[in-house]
Amino acid sequence: MTRFLFCLCILFVWSCGEKDSNTSSVFFAGEIVNPTTNKVVLYKGDTPLDTAFLDMSNRFVMKLDSVSAGLHHFQHHPEEQYVYLEKGDSIQLRLNTINFDESLVFSGTGEAINNFMVEMFLAAEKEEQEIYDLYELEPETFAAKMDSLREMKLSSLEAINAEEDLTEEAFKMANAGIVYGSYIFMEAYPFYHRRKTGEKTMHNLPDNFYSYRNIIDFNDEDLTYLRPYYNFMKYHLGNLSYMECKSDCGDRHMSAGRRLHLNRHKLRLIDSLVQQRELRDNLYRNVAMDYLLKRDTEENLSQFMADFKKLSANNRHMAEINRLYEGIKRMQPNMSLPELVLYSAEEKPVALSELSNGKKTVFYFWSGSEMGHFRNINKRIGKLSVQYPDHNFIGINLRTDMARWQSLLETFGLDKSKQYWADDFDRVTHTLIIADPNKSIVAQDGIILDAFANVYRSF
Ligand SMILES: [Zn+2]
Repeated sequence: MTRFLFCLCILFVWSCGEKDSNTSSVFFAGEIVNPTTNKVVLYKGDTPLDTAFLDMSNRFVMKLDSVSAGLHHFQHHPEEQYVYLEKGDSIQLRLNTINFDESLVFSGTGEAINNFMVEMFLAAEKEEQEIYDLYELEPETFAAKMDSLREMKLSSLEAINAEEDLTEEAFKMANAGIVYGSYIFMEAYPFYHRRKTGEKTMHNLPDNFYSYRNIIDFNDEDLTYLRPYYNFMKYHLGNLSYMECKSDCGDRHMSAGRRLHLNRHKLRLIDSLVQQRELRDNLYRNVAMDYLLKRDTEENLSQFMADFKKLSANNRHMAEINRLYEGIKRMQPNMSLPELVLYSAEEKPVALSELSNGKKTVFYFWSGSEMGHFRNINKRIGKLSVQYPDHNFIGINLRTDMARWQSLLETFGLDKSKQYWADDFDRVTHTLIIADPNKSIVAQDGIILDAFANVYRSF
């Protein structure tokens, strides 16, 4: 009954989906099926604007007095997705956390642009594999394929625009999502082409292959948090730094310190290309995260941090980067495993360090919301357990409701003595430095042997 009444209220508020141009206030509301936390947080960039708690029927409502029009994102921990908001909007979403992005639907004013952005997001995820197969093509053919894919999307944006009359800003955002998303593949092409064809050197590219580089904009603040734009910047910098090193430094740096060397190129390139403060800080942060999260010597790590601080001392993410660096220093070989409490299938608390007593122990990680990954890693661990009978393999579950975790253990017939559950996702991922889903930690008797192992590559 209460649910019915609530629906009526919603209908009343969003009566005909017309934008109310007399008000600058914004309604943002929705329903979360299978919530993973009790709240929804709305962000502009990395600034939280408002938090709304779910009610008894898992609905939330936010009313903001005013917003600066543009791209926002909402977070229902640990997932997040865009929402594009303009003054006077009243928009409602519905999603199911079991299929977060796929189930997300917007209604109300702004539904056209928002549903289009989700559609493009999902299309991009899907086409990644298809495009991966195209990397073997010669550059001219590959570029022509990318052109036609992009044109197809742009014309579907034109069609939506003709029907819904998007604002200029909304159109620009969707347009940028399409074009930058497509340029990512152009930046990646030479590397994947070499890998797929097995060619010894980088393939020569026609003069106009990168012609779009003349029109890319490093300083458009509206695009800073648009994923395709940001990802494009990452690939672009990766491409430029590799090519720069190849032409300036030759083969001098092909040895052990190569990763540090290449990342120094990247840091300098950001410094020379990007002036817009937020994008610059975010890209610097990305280089730092990317570099720090892979194994390197303590000496190289500290050299990197010194360089980083020289170029980006006032980085808005400095505290986070320092914390990661300190965390990594605590996860070096011969250090003790950090103090963390996990739970057994019988819901008993157990210290992480106790789980590695006796045998060499390999900790790996999985989540009930990534079922594809869960199946793959299970298969892999099954194989490794046969290959390494003297090792103990222990699964740590993250980001899953405890009851659901327990039922997954039953359904998949997992050995309960080798499965543990973590409740504090942030704390566990920060302490154990988990960024790669296939990361594993090898330890024995509470002492770290290798905290940066990988279940596929390290065994
Ligand atoms: Zn170099």
